[in-house]
Amino acid sequence: MIFSETTFSSRVASVRRPTNPILQGIIDTAREAVFVVDDAMRIKASNQAAHLAFSRGNGSLEDRRLSEIIRDLRLHAAFRDSIDQQRVADLRLEIGATDKRTFDIHIAPFDLEGSRHAIGFFYDVTQVERLEKVRQEFLSNISHELRTPLTSIMAFVETLEDGAIDDSENNRRFLNVIRRNAERMHVLIADILELSLIESGNVSIDKSHVRLAHLVEEIFDSLSTKAGEREILLAHDIDPDSRVYADLGRLEQMLTNLIDNAIKFNRSAGGVDVKLARVGNRSVISVADTGEGIMAEHLGRIFERFYRLDRGRTREVGGTGLGLAIVKHLARLQGGEVTVESDLGLGTTFFIELPEE
Ligand code: ADP
Repeated sequence: MIFSETTFSSRVASVRRPTNPILQGIIDTAREAVFVVDDAMRIKASNQAAHLAFSRGNGSLEDRRLSEIIRDLRLHAAFRDSIDQQRVADLRLEIGATDKRTFDIHIAPFDLEGSRHAIGFFYDVTQVERLEKVRQEFLSNISHELRTPLTSIMAFVETLEDGAIDDSENNRRFLNVIRRNAERMHVLIADILELSLIESGNVSIDKSHVRLAHLVEEIFDSLSTKAGEREILLAHDIDPDSRVYADLGRLEQMLTNLIDNAIKFNRSAGGVDVKLARVGNRSVISVADTGEGIMAEHLGRIFERFYRLDRGRTREVGGTGLGLAIVKHLARLQGGEVTVESDLGLGTTFFIELPEE
């Protein structure tokens, strides 16, 4: 304890008095909402954060009942208990009807001008809680995604151990399944590492004037076998001299991802068309396919990590559900953005928008 109880009490008491603007200033600089409540459960002092969070434009909080400002039985009981039993209470509450916020609340008793009071500190943990949820979901997604290929690997190893190793007709096939699943895990882990590296901000961006037609042709070459298997025609109409201002390696990664998706989610003998347009002072590269399209309800979510329209199908075509999340981050790192438009039954177009120098 830094202050004796009476000193601390008198300081808190003085926050209401305009004659002590320094103390009111100090309490007001706290980001946490602070309330002092008396024995009749009325608010005796508060700070600006409390006012902002709970007054809802209804003027001063002082001398109003706590229950009138925050209607929550548990909170009321905790203040009551702290005043009556002279003990500290900690609780986590969701407060608010429309704009729900989560608070960690610490309530402590103290004497103020000879009578029992309690002071409550409201720490807004809404954002922390949201991030924690995102982290947990991410971890559970990763575990799930890794478990599927791993289960398959273990099952086939056991089958081999149980005698299939001598079954010359099938042993190679089983080994092949094991290899494919191990490769899948490898790709997944590489994507996870890549994403966390990008999200941590530890990637350098080195922009130059990239000859887009040349880059697109190189990517077409590297994906030609895959496109050929399904007779998908890869085309572009970009002027050989057109340049975009971007990090070459990162742009290649983004376009490879989008063109690869445009092949994977296309119909047989469909087409992929890459174009470049200038809109204001931005370059817009579009990658259009003639696939099934994406329903409007999914469009807003496909850039989320692990979001896939059809898990079974995507696994078959070897997707991790992380590609578009990586593309989005890479675009933003370069001051740009990625958007998508889709016509059900006709196809999907992704747009990479990048600022010109
Ligand atoms: P994946 O590794 O599964 O391809 P992405 O993040 O690249 O992961 O894509 C997420 C999901 O968005 C895909 O699983 C697929 O359902 C959908 N999707 C992506 N690109 C297309 C496309 N061109 N046409 C239709 N659906 C697509």
